[in-house]
Amino acid sequence: MMSYDPENIFARILRGEIPCRKIYEDDFALAFHDIHPQAPIHVLVIPKGPYVSLTDFCGEAPAELIAGYFRAVGIVANELGLNDEGFRALFNVGAHGGQEVPHLHVHLLGGKRLGPMLTKS
Ligand code: 5GP
Repeated sequence: MMSYDPENIFARILRGEIPCRKIYEDDFALAFHDIHPQAPIHVLVIPKGPYVSLTDFCGEAPAELIAGYFRAVGIVANELGLNDEGFRALFNVGAHGGQEVPHLHVHLLGGKRLGPMLTKS
């Protein structure tokens, strides 16, 4: 597994060095709008900790952070009204998953019917 790069863009957003359109923040997580939205609502939720990916987070993070992070994901989905009509929660992991930013994040996508889970290409 690759080691955590503290200069990745989401680490810099967490430190306040780069602005974001913040939606929600608590002790465990920060949620903000994706800079290149791929749906009418496209939000990212990141944990407050140095975790590269979902597997890194699940294996290494303290239980309190894991619980707090996933609780925050649910709060954000509710606050944005995504639960009303449904939405997609997506983790990209590593090269085959197409992960570009090496700080764990879930994509919350919604606001329209999203179609098939994978594009046919
Ligand atoms: P990944 O491919 O790693 O799962 O997704 C990374 C996401 O981060 C992409 O959807 C991309 O648009 C978003 N992103 C990259 N840089 C920035 C940034 O500086 N600010 C925000 N808000 N989103 C970003």
